[in-house]
Amino acid sequence: MNNSKNKPALLVATYLVVFAFSAYAKDKDNWYKGNTHAHTTLCGHADSSPDAVAKWYHDHGYNFLILSEHNIFIDPATVKLPEKAREDFILIPGEEITGHRHVHSTAINIPELIDWTFKSESVTAIIQNHLDNTKAAGGEHILNHPTYRYAVTTEDMKPVKGLHLFELHNGHPNTVRHTHEVDEGYVTTEDMWDDMLTSGLVVYGVSSDDTHTLKEWDTEASNPGRGWIMVRSGKLTPESITKEIRSGNFYATSGVILSRIDISEEQYSVEVDRRTTLKESGSPYILGRKLPEAAGGFMIEFIGPEGNTVKHVHGTRGSLSLGPGNAYIRCRVSYTRRSTNGFEQFFAWTQPAFTDDRLARVEAEDRNYFGK
Ligand SMILES: [Zn+2]
Ligand SMILES: [Zn+2]
Repeated sequence: MNNSKNKPALLVATYLVVFAFSAYAKDKDNWYKGNTHAHTTLCGHADSSPDAVAKWYHDHGYNFLILSEHNIFIDPATVKLPEKAREDFILIPGEEITGHRHVHSTAINIPELIDWTFKSESVTAIIQNHLDNTKAAGGEHILNHPTYRYAVTTEDMKPVKGLHLFELHNGHPNTVRHTHEVDEGYVTTEDMWDDMLTSGLVVYGVSSDDTHTLKEWDTEASNPGRGWIMVRSGKLTPESITKEIRSGNFYATSGVILSRIDISEEQYSVEVDRRTTLKESGSPYILGRKLPEAAGGFMIEFIGPEGNTVKHVHGTRGSLSLGPGNAYIRCRVSYTRRSTNGFEQFFAWTQPAFTDDRLARVEAEDRNYFGK
């Protein structure tokens, strides 16, 4: 991408080809399942030790986990994994920077505790402080659950330099519904995402558990297994997974699993892994969106500027031609099934593809701001 920085149009084309290249040409790339957000007894309001939380994720087939404690750094070297732990399970060091005015951020792949004490009347300044401190320590930053206490709006987020990751979906009962429904006068996290993307930002959506509770299982408890990401990476190392998350080489899910995401210069295609989706959504830990009435089955929606659905397909496979008419396109895949009192719906959210020159512009802005 660097050799075409004076040619935005060419750069977009190059990016898209590179993205598609990473989907197919790298035969050895794998999808890794992980959760970026979990708590332990160390914070005083969760019920299981770091060892026990790590064991749950290990035992349930995850490949990576961040023990993101509130203003406490849990060194993975101090966490005892189960005996004969799988080799394809790692802990990535992290922290939930729990700051002023209910602004929370996950710092990923950091070597030590990140300072959280900055105070300001400006939510933008607080997010920027979390992000700057995380980057200075060599990590990457996710803005967490913006709708928690409705603390963060898109107007707070838009001016933040280098903000590229936010929690679109969070499994905590206080915020889980905010992906799709909010109290009057507020906007959902999915609408927030489209607002930021429509404004020309490069922001990728994360899904996480925000686990606090392993000893009591209830839809009102913040249990694990309800939100995660699937990251495409050549290697399972903290560095590689962190780099791919930062690059948007992942999708967010609350239960739907994809077998294919193929983005070329001309086309955006996705395909559902039906078998794995039925298995994941059959998990006793899962929590879908409840609806009184709905049509069952799979639906693929291609969503563009202003959150408009450009095309939808009923079924497990869909594609859309990309053109200059939509500055970005992302995909939402839903699986709806009957449940006890109506219907229940699960999702996968893929990351946006851009057909404008924003990737070049944002890359230059970041280089300017972070000085590299
Ligand atoms: Zn939080
Ligand atoms: Zn949390």
